[in-house]
Amino acid sequence: MRLARRVREISSSVTLDITSKAKKMKKEGIDVVNFGAGEPDFDTPRHVKDSAIAAINEGFTKYTPSSGMPELREAISKKFKVDNSLDYAPAQIIVSNGAKHSLYNIFQAICDAGDEVIIPSPYWLSYPEMVKLNEGIPIFVNTKKENGFKVTAKELASKINKKTKAFILNSPSNPTGCVYGEKELRDIAALAVKHKFFIISDEIYEKLIYDDKKHFSIASFGKDIYDLAFTVNGVSKSYSMTGWRIGYAAGPADVMKAISNLQSHAASNPSSISQRAALAALTQDQGCVEEMREEFEKRRNLMLERISRIREISCVRPEGAFYVFCDISGLKMDSITLSNRLLDEAKVAVIPGEPFGADSFIRLSFATGVSNIEKGINRMEEWINKAH
Ligand code: PMP
Repeated sequence: MRLARRVREISSSVTLDITSKAKKMKKEGIDVVNFGAGEPDFDTPRHVKDSAIAAINEGFTKYTPSSGMPELREAISKKFKVDNSLDYAPAQIIVSNGAKHSLYNIFQAICDAGDEVIIPSPYWLSYPEMVKLNEGIPIFVNTKKENGFKVTAKELASKINKKTKAFILNSPSNPTGCVYGEKELRDIAALAVKHKFFIISDEIYEKLIYDDKKHFSIASFGKDIYDLAFTVNGVSKSYSMTGWRIGYAAGPADVMKAISNLQSHAASNPSSISQRAALAALTQDQGCVEEMREEFEKRRNLMLERISRIREISCVRPEGAFYVFCDISGLKMDSITLSNRLLDEAKVAVIPGEPFGADSFIRLSFATGVSNIEKGINRMEEWINKAH
């Protein structure tokens, strides 16, 4: 066998299949409305781009320390303090090639063969694959639509055993948009402390939060949970910088030291130029973040209002991120069939819920303009009325 077992078992991405089909149709001149986007549609802010250009012109084009340049780790340390009431020394912070890489490093550092990692379902589709690639076993805990897709302490407790190594928390969530409140997080933290497992808190959508909801970092709830938690974040979503590939993680000093060694051999530093751009994003005017957030909130409201008029589908109001997760059980069709038919027949690209562990849902992204939202939902509504 040419391929190692670990890669033979990775699932291919259904999401990519649909989005590449949509792209191909667009290229052929077909007017497709794309609700598939997993990234903000705004340009990277001007001052961020300028900082990167300056870095190039100054010759800041060589290796940096492999865990990230000291000024950036210092800036991230300050950001954690100011935004999240978290005390992380720069030595506890590692900058990587996107939050995805940060997460992968953590699984590499903590998973031994057979370790169980609990993942609330629906989940971001890379989590189980990352766990499996590191010989861990993903253990899914189903959440309920009635609870806004948030895992309750009781549901989580039912999956804990001696092999439980970690729990993945993602608030705001992709794909459901749910945002955990303080009490919900404190209950989860208490379980982690009692049973001594790690919490990996993916806070990449932290700044995209609506209805005056507040984001809490679980690691900020006291020393006991701080010692067991990893806080993962990045500039991709907050600053519309997905292509720059800068994410970061912070956590217990001993594990972060191991990750630092790991990254030094596996990848070295993320792009020096992108690091300078991230430094500008985190330390200069934050007005751009709020401007983009406000625009997202307007679009979310529009999408929700329009979907509420379609009888056969429904959704929980997302309080964060930029996705609406729609219940399609009324259409009596699995999510992949529906997504393919919507693309072929209505020329609307949506993401099926199946790879997120939720086959009676589809994910619509509102990282697209208001007129596209109007047009796309009109088409979906017409198609559903005709097909039913
Ligand atoms: N976590 C979640 C929940 C995400 O949706 C994404 C991006 N799709 C990431 C992490 C990775 O972000 P990055 O671009 O920083 O790798």
